[in-house]
Amino acid sequence: MILVIIDIHTHVGIMRSWSPYLIGHVRATVLDLISYMDHVGVDIAVLLPLPGRIEPDTIIPGTEKVIRLSKEYPDRIIPFCVVDPRGIKVEEKVERYVKMGCRGLGEYKVPLPIDDRRSVSIFKLCADLGIPILVHMDNRFNPDIRRFISVLNEVPDAVFIMHGPGWWKHISANVDEKTDYPKGKVTPGGLVEKIFREYKNVYADISAYSGLNALRRDPAYSKSFISKFSNRLLYGTDFPGISPEGNQFGPNKAHLNLIMNLGLDTNIVDNVLYKNALRILDIHV
Ligand SMILES: [Zn+2]
Repeated sequence: MILVIIDIHTHVGIMRSWSPYLIGHVRATVLDLISYMDHVGVDIAVLLPLPGRIEPDTIIPGTEKVIRLSKEYPDRIIPFCVVDPRGIKVEEKVERYVKMGCRGLGEYKVPLPIDDRRSVSIFKLCADLGIPILVHMDNRFNPDIRRFISVLNEVPDAVFIMHGPGWWKHISANVDEKTDYPKGKVTPGGLVEKIFREYKNVYADISAYSGLNALRRDPAYSKSFISKFSNRLLYGTDFPGISPEGNQFGPNKAHLNLIMNLGLDTNIVDNVLYKNALRILDIHV
C-alpha cells in the first residue's frame, strides 16, 4: 500500500511552547517543514499564514512571505492566504493572492465573532472564488459555533474547514464552554455531528491538540464518528506547534497514529489522509 498524505495545516515561523516539558519557543523554517514531511512521509503540505501578530509570542509569516516560500517547493507546498478583515481593501487583496497561487483562505484567526459582517463578506468572496476557508475557532477568535450556523445559512456555497477548541469541544453534546480541552466520554448528538449532517460544505481538520484531544477522549465513539464522517475530516498537524507532552506536532506522528491505530477501513483512512484534501484543493494527480 502506498500511503499518500496531505497535511492541511502547517506553519513556519516562531511559536511559543505551551508544554510544561519544553519552555520557550520553537522556530521552524521552510526547510524544517520539508524535513518533517520527508521524515513522516507527507507528500504535500498546506502552508498557512496568519493575519498579523495575533499573539505576543507567535511570529508566523503573512501571506506574501508564505507565497514566496511555497515557490521554493512548488510540488510540495500549497500556499493559503489570509487577511485581517478590519483592514482596508481586503477583498482586493484576497483576489490578488488567489491570482498569485493561493488555494484557500486561512488560517482565519481574528478576534471577531464568526458572523461579523466583515468576515461574512470575505467568506462570500471565497465562495465566489471557489476557495475553501480554514477557520480557527475558540472563545477569543471567531466565536462561536452557534453563530457559525447562521453564517452557513447565509453563505451556503462556501467551503469551510473548521479547527480549534471552539469547534472540537462540540464533538460532544455535553459542553462546558469554558473548558477548551474537555476529557471523558462523548455524548452523541453534538453540534459537530449536527452541522456535518446538515451542511455538506463543512469539513474539519484534526490538527493541534484540539483535534487530537477530541478524537482521543472516547476511542469507541471516535471510530464510529470518523467512519461516518470520513468524507469531511482532514489530516493536519499545526506543525511546528508543541504538544502538551513537549514533542512536536507532525514529527511526533500523534495525528497520523491516531488515524492509523483505530482499526479503520483503508478507504476511510485514505479519505482523511488525502482524498478529501485533493477534492477541496482541486488538485488532480
Ligand atoms: Zn494553526
